[in-house]
Amino acid sequence: SGFSALQVDEFYVRKLQEMNIVSPSPIQAEAIPIILQGKDVVAQSQTGSGKTLAYALPLLHKIDKDSKDVQAVVLVPTRELGVQIFQTLELLTAESGIRVQALIGGAAISRQIDRLKLRPQLIVGTPGRVLELLKLRKLSMHYVQTIIVDEVDQVFELGSMNEVEAIFKGMQRERQMLFFSATMPEPIEAVIGRWMQAPVYVQV
Ligand code: AMP
Repeated sequence: SGFSALQVDEFYVRKLQEMNIVSPSPIQAEAIPIILQGKDVVAQSQTGSGKTLAYALPLLHKIDKDSKDVQAVVLVPTRELGVQIFQTLELLTAESGIRVQALIGGAAISRQIDRLKLRPQLIVGTPGRVLELLKLRKLSMHYVQTIIVDEVDQVFELGSMNEVEAIFKGMQRERQMLFFSATMPEPIEAVIGRWMQAPVYVQV
């Protein structure tokens, strides 16, 4: 399929076929090769453009399923988006050996702490809850290689950017950062300048 040409692993190409997804959307065709190169990326794209798969597919390639460390974190502004992305990632990672966990505000933190003992490699979470678990030392950013902020403009509007930057502080220097946003207001440019290295801008 068109995803094979983008160097997407056959395991995921088959999963996509089961979901009737066979040809990459413009944002996927543009962003997947750049993300696979390991670059920091700022992608401007609307909801419904297929942005979740644009970052999820290259992200899953990087995850070492034999590791017990959290290697990738997807930060989202709202619980609804978090649940939706978690479900997509669960479908993609079924039988892959990769463990995904949602750390979303509003749900019981004690259950989330219990589930973290299963050692997920991939986290989807809201900034407040992720930061809370970091402070409780139930979660570590130390081995995180990839961080994604989805709907960055929403994260900003909800006033969660301080929490997002506090989460960034726990990361190592060798890391990949990906921002997805429908709009790119000035304050987001400032955050990009503070944290990203030679970001590639993708707009479709
Ligand atoms: P998103 O923009 O990530 O919220 O995706 C919107 C919807 O488009 C989701 O229901 C996806 O399953 C679907 N989708 C994503 N990529 C493709 C594609 N390449 N072809 C067809 N549907 C897709």
